[in-house]
Amino acid sequence: VQTLHGRHYDPASEITITAGATQAILTAILAIVRPGDEVIVLEPCYDSYQPNIELAGGVAVPVPLLTTFCYRVPPGWISLAQPGCRVHVPFRNRSLVGMLVGLTDKVPQHTPVKDIFEVLDASPILPPQLLELGRWIADYYVAPPGSVFEAMLPLPTELRTKRLLYLTETGQERIEKLRLADNEDRSRAELALLEWIAARKGGSSLQQLQRSVASAGTMLPRLLRAGTVEEREVSRRRKEKTETIVMWLGTGKESSQSATAQSSVAAVAEYFRGGRGPTALHEVTAATSIKRSAVAKLVRAGWLVSWQEPVIAEAEPLEFDFEPPVNVLNAEQQVALEAIGRMLERREFATGLLYGVTGSGKTEVYLRAIQMALERGGAALLMVPEIALTPAASRLLRAKLGATVAVLHSAMPESARAEEWRRLRHGEARVAVGTRSAVFAPLENLRLIIVDEEQEGSYKQEETPKYNGRDVAVVRAKLEGVVVVLGSATPALETFANARLGKYQLLELRSRVADRPLAQVEIVDMREEFRASPRVTPLSQSLEHAIEAELAKGNQAVVLMNRRGYSWFVLCRSCGASIQCRNCSISLTYHKSRNRLLCHYCGFQQPVPKSCPRCQAEYIYFVGEGAERVEERLRERFPLARVARLDRDSVRGKRRYHAVLSGFAQGKLDILVGTQMVAKGHDFQRVTLVGVVSADLILGLPDFRAAERTFELLTQVAGRAGRGDFPGKVLVQTYFPDHYAIQFGAAQDYEGFYQKESEYRRLMHYPPFVALSSILVRSRRLEEAGRIARRLGDFLEKQEEGGLKVLGPAAAPIARLRSDYRFQFLLKAPQRKVLIQTLHRLLSFCRQAEIPTDKVLIDVDPLSLM
Ligand code: ADP
Ligand code: ZN
Repeated sequence: VQTLHGRHYDPASEITITAGATQAILTAILAIVRPGDEVIVLEPCYDSYQPNIELAGGVAVPVPLLTTFCYRVPPGWISLAQPGCRVHVPFRNRSLVGMLVGLTDKVPQHTPVKDIFEVLDASPILPPQLLELGRWIADYYVAPPGSVFEAMLPLPTELRTKRLLYLTETGQERIEKLRLADNEDRSRAELALLEWIAARKGGSSLQQLQRSVASAGTMLPRLLRAGTVEEREVSRRRKEKTETIVMWLGTGKESSQSATAQSSVAAVAEYFRGGRGPTALHEVTAATSIKRSAVAKLVRAGWLVSWQEPVIAEAEPLEFDFEPPVNVLNAEQQVALEAIGRMLERREFATGLLYGVTGSGKTEVYLRAIQMALERGGAALLMVPEIALTPAASRLLRAKLGATVAVLHSAMPESARAEEWRRLRHGEARVAVGTRSAVFAPLENLRLIIVDEEQEGSYKQEETPKYNGRDVAVVRAKLEGVVVVLGSATPALETFANARLGKYQLLELRSRVADRPLAQVEIVDMREEFRASPRVTPLSQSLEHAIEAELAKGNQAVVLMNRRGYSWFVLCRSCGASIQCRNCSISLTYHKSRNRLLCHYCGFQQPVPKSCPRCQAEYIYFVGEGAERVEERLRERFPLARVARLDRDSVRGKRRYHAVLSGFAQGKLDILVGTQMVAKGHDFQRVTLVGVVSADLILGLPDFRAAERTFELLTQVAGRAGRGDFPGKVLVQTYFPDHYAIQFGAAQDYEGFYQKESEYRRLMHYPPFVALSSILVRSRRLEEAGRIARRLGDFLEKQEEGGLKVLGPAAAPIARLRSDYRFQFLLKAPQRKVLIQTLHRLLSFCRQAEIPTDKVLIDVDPLSLM
């Protein structure tokens, strides 16, 4: 008898045996078959009739190691264990949740293999194609498989662990023995303790035990030594976030006291009138402007009842009142869409680059392409770079396609994300919209992936696994044999190079919809401005006049200041010292609204000193302007204008963010000032002026992509102007008016920029002409960081073949970050394969040399070299 695990059978020749034990089945088979016939018996549980089958599984465990681990599947779990299921496994002295990635019937015989504790999913949580994608990511980004699968799941597998006590088999035997014997006191106490533990099959905590059994503390150590009781670490699901729910009861104690108490009763009664049911407390306080404490009083007085509930799915509400614009595609859009249609028709892997200027109507093309995929019975995935852009995209899609759209992004409550994930997994939703991690959406029968604004840095995850969602999307499309479309007005150099090479099919939208002109860009030379009228405000005269003129016409303006805070750093004029972060080699930024100095890298903050911490002089001086300062100046200069600031300080959380944007879109605000959050993606119809306060900020960074990022930001922010009926104008303030990034940005000439930048990259051996990786060595102790860097340097020196170039070790641009000293290597190779192989070799060297891998961070295709 041979067992075939997971082999297909032909249902046409199926024989069904409906009843009977194994004996009856065998009799039936023997009656039918002749020697030489092949018989396949289908049985839901292998182990029920094949007790000697052996299975082992490779498990990706969430630990920072680059391998999977082999576990035996105990007989009781054999029928349940499938690749893609989560499993509970013993690891060192803990119990962890890992991903079962493969099965084999060749259980290693020479090395001891531990058993899986249990299988957590009755059916695979990840389908096979996503398992394969995960394996690719682990290999390509040289990342621990455990961390990869953790990132792919809707909920963190990292579950809260707890240590619990269990009775062992020896313990059970001991109980039976003690029960039979005629016991002295000590044994009676032991029996009581063991029985107490035995009764709690799910395990009991030490604290519970000690509270309930008096002698536990003294007896337990002996029992643990004797092996009658064992302690295991058990994972517990992390507690769900809860919120307070209140409900109106209609009657309560008359509050004889204050008038305010009575008025709050009346207001809440009014709010709940008409049979409004249980409502979240924050909604009630928001709607009635009654304080939480006052509501709590009403609860105590019995008017309201309150309880806690897990935060429920915050899927974007279906907005039926939202009428999406009905656009007739223009000729260019039509051509692009037809090309995508032909790609879909071929049913094979293909990549398209939809290169269309800002305002050319790319979204409309995406939407129709998704509809095409759906009409052909497939599913589609739309990736957007920012959380802020998901509401806009999902609203549009939902309005057109209804509930078949699921939204996924990391800022959603876990329960909501899990629910959207489930809808996709079960085919209830066939379109997924989301940020970076949505690339792992479990869509069956995928036909189309779209990556909007593919050049965006936010597609790159900066923690392990350091994957780029755009690149993973292309690989996923390849693995599944489907179409992927990357869209941008300013494609990443790498992407455009691929289009030039013919690897990607180029689809172009060369003009804005309705033949609207691109905005006029004017460069304001700040050196001349300063010579003409030295002033200390961040806004030039030209920009102030332009804003004034537009406001007078009732138009709106966007002002970009790509730095948070009030001023960049604080300097002592007496000794020249600047105030540095305690944990990083970074100057602290002054935030006026909070009256504190802040580190933008580690979050460290401190009060603003009155005197210099070094020399005690009182000549503290604030240098450079941030978004807060620009906002203040705008309010000073235009007291009647309604100014809002949009950056990570002013808006915390998605709701506020959304509120500011929609207020601006509805014309309730006149000027929107902020960091790059204001620059990208938005489709504001009434903006006629964009001011860029300091276009040079990025140019000063020690990063080979500084020019590309400057060009992109300028083009994108210029793209916010003149999207409606009136033409737009852009003013760019700079101290480097001749820099090519500024010049091409002002001309919104992508191809010109691409040409120039390509020359520089080719000359300097940077991507897209080489494959690049950075290796960062970090340690709390400078001496240790230096020592590891030297050892890696010695190793890497010997690897320089196949065209591999190693730069470093050198101090990282931020030499100290979050209390770690940092050294950096850059690896360049003509081919990716050479690079990846070297990195894998480097990590095995680290293992041999016992260099802790958490001190060596690898970034393949890094976007930031800080
Ligand atoms: P992009 O993403 O290319 O910058 P959008 O997709 O945001 O541009 O489109 C800009 C605006 O043009 C949107 O308000 C959209 O509704 C509108 N639009 C798109 N296609 C057409 C069309 N064919 N005719 C008229 N307006 C259109
Ligand atoms: Zn810091």
